[in-house]
Amino acid sequence: MLFLSLKIAKPDIMKCFFYAMILLIVGCKSVPEPSTSERIGEMMNYLASDELNGREAGTAGIEIAANYIETIFKENKIDPYFETYRDTLSNFDGVTYNMVGFIEGKDKNLKKEFVVLGAHYDHIGKAASVGEDTVANGANDNASGSTTVLELARYFGHTKSNKRSIIFVLFSAEEKGLLGSKHLAEKLKDENLNLYVMLNFEMVGVPMVEKDHLMYLTGYELSNLADVTNSYAGEKIAGFLPKAKEFNLFKRSDNLPFHELFNVPSQTYSTFDFTNFDHYHKVGDENSLMDFEHMANVVNKVIPVIEGIANAPTQEVKYN
Ligand SMILES: [Zn+2]
Repeated sequence: MLFLSLKIAKPDIMKCFFYAMILLIVGCKSVPEPSTSERIGEMMNYLASDELNGREAGTAGIEIAANYIETIFKENKIDPYFETYRDTLSNFDGVTYNMVGFIEGKDKNLKKEFVVLGAHYDHIGKAASVGEDTVANGANDNASGSTTVLELARYFGHTKSNKRSIIFVLFSAEEKGLLGSKHLAEKLKDENLNLYVMLNFEMVGVPMVEKDHLMYLTGYELSNLADVTNSYAGEKIAGFLPKAKEFNLFKRSDNLPFHELFNVPSQTYSTFDFTNFDHYHKVGDENSLMDFEHMANVVNKVIPVIEGIANAPTQEVKYN
């Protein structure tokens, strides 16, 4: 081999170098590292740390989270959807904002259709003390969903593989009555956004107990989203949780305003099954109870689903 390479004329070497560089660039752009428990843990430890004081809308604590989200958007080449990433709520008494990122679709026609991926990043601030602890860190609710959306943003930011346009949104003031999602849904409706689906992530920090699927969907029976999800995943990852219907979780998260205003499939994926977590809205909702391995698994299994939904030539997800 050495002998052979010595015989290559100079222009050929340059040519080889040129093609090698192209391969390297194309290779780097194609697939980013999969999500890992380490990466998830790092983000969760930031978002659910005591320093953020429970991320209550309108406080200094959630501002730290907003700055962090902005940094991650920028690192992953996510554009702001509006002039800046911050979309100030018009319906909140005080100052708080959704963080809204965007990747334009690469297909000249399909890019006019939008997929919205969302999770709320606010929480309730302080709660009834347990010992010295008064900070409701909101690790499961909903640093977990926020981290999921940020990991999806990292993936699509690197691949830019989406034919439809994707909006990545971290909502504020969910805990004040879905205010962030109401505000954004109205604003997007006013600009006549062509919304295809709104997929929301809530409380995905702990695996469900004894289920044959990884997550459940709220409003399961309203659409074929579970079927579409499972077919792109190549296995049953989304299913039905009777308790979710009993407690009408479909109406208790940020998918609801999109459903009401756009009447297109707007649903929440979750792994909170009413038996696997006793710290809902309590100070015990902490990272020490989260399963980062499970969370990375959720991200990695959801990526091909979002890719399938964003790239299918026709709109497959439909309300029944
Ligand atoms: Zn909550």
